Amino acid sequence: MEYNLREEGFYGNMEPEQITEMYGSPVYVYNEETLRSRCRELKKMVRYPHFVIDYSIKANFNPALLQIVKEEGLEVDVMSPGEIYLAKMAGYEANEIFYICNNVSEQEMRYAIEAGVTTSVDSLSQLEQYGRLNPGGKVAVRLNPGYGAGHHQKVITAGKKTKFGIDVEMLPEVKAVLARYSLKLVGVNQHIGSLFLEKEQYLKSVDSLLECAKEFSDLEFVDFGGGFGIAYHKENQIQRLDLADLGKSLDEIMYRFVKEYGKEITFRAEPGRYVTAESSVLLGTVNTVKTNHGKKYIGTDIGFNVLMRPVLYDSYHEIEVYEKNRKVTGKRETVTIVGNICESGDILAKDRELPHIEEKDMIGVLDAGAYGHVMSSNYNGRLRPAEVLVKRDGENCLIRKRDTLDDLVKNYVLLP
Ligand SMILES: *Cc1c(COP(=O)(O)O)cnc(C)c1O
Repeated sequence: MEYNLREEGFYGNMEPEQITEMYGSPVYVYNEETLRSRCRELKKMVRYPHFVIDYSIKANFNPALLQIVKEEGLEVDVMSPGEIYLAKMAGYEANEIFYICNNVSEQEMRYAIEAGVTTSVDSLSQLEQYGRLNPGGKVAVRLNPGYGAGHHQKVITAGKKTKFGIDVEMLPEVKAVLARYSLKLVGVNQHIGSLFLEKEQYLKSVDSLLECAKEFSDLEFVDFGGGFGIAYHKENQIQRLDLADLGKSLDEIMYRFVKEYGKEITFRAEPGRYVTAESSVLLGTVNTVKTNHGKKYIGTDIGFNVLMRPVLYDSYHEIEVYEKNRKVTGKRETVTIVGNICESGDILAKDRELPHIEEKDMIGVLDAGAYGHVMSSNYNGRLRPAEVLVKRDGENCLIRKRDTLDDLVKNYVLLP
């Protein structure tokens, strides 16, 4: 199957090359309709009435996108005071923000407490710290069920080999610290890892979290975590995550739990990637085509300073070719697509069979909306790209300016 977002209208009323002419290349392009439809799917995945979707904004915290996510009725979880600030900028109230912190300083924790944001801590010592800062307050704890799941070792966030969560064997100690500081435990949460496409692991972790939840009689919520995957590979028929099916299983579990628990509590899930990944294509330009010792390289302006995932996680992103001012030949060839950073690891796609590419063509890197722009940097003195939103009427607007040379230098202090 040849996927073609251009033909499906992803770019609205403009061609990809008009967008880069206007906003520079590379550029992250978002489609509002796609973003809204992911939010809606999540909102309606279960029947249980007290189910909240917290969008995990570390995947993409552009405030304009957060405004849309908020309009669709999702709340947010955040990882830092900076993310609290961004969420508020987009209009979120403190009670719609859940701060899940990891190894934070007293200042960071105090920031959240003063902002009135519910906080989840992830070790006994951080629970102690919270107790000292906010005795008598409300707090949540992140538990580690003892196993994890994910697409790469770096994103498995529970289990015996990660830094995350409180070992469930330590619940007696948790209770002791809560009592010592008269803290009220309002919630328990977990996040076992990123990018699952089959529901089994997730459900298993939900079951074990709920077992722990029964140890506490007065919870307001249980948060199952995120990790909902998307199918980055379009061509070898990888199935999408079946949200309706996952929702059905969660409904059974949630209704059974509240019956045993004796009161209706809120359940939460915190997907990041699922909400934003598919809503963006990263557009770039082909500057060079060359053959080096028998291998054909397509040299683009998409270095790993712009999109880090392939280098960091060996991730796969589908690539579309938009030929410029020439006839399409129908010829295909195997190429390696690289960026413009001075490191040999700067590879976007290795040995990929794609339509013939020439210099000045453009490429679109699909599913770039999560862990894309937020991980970009100024490495090699490059300017982080603009972000552009294609609205439902097909018109587009700028939602983040491209860096300027002044942005690049603005925080440096020269010696006298
Ligand atoms: C990163 C993260 C998420 C979101 O993960 P996705 O794989 O993007 O869904 C959710 N919860 C926590 C605590 C996280 O750290």
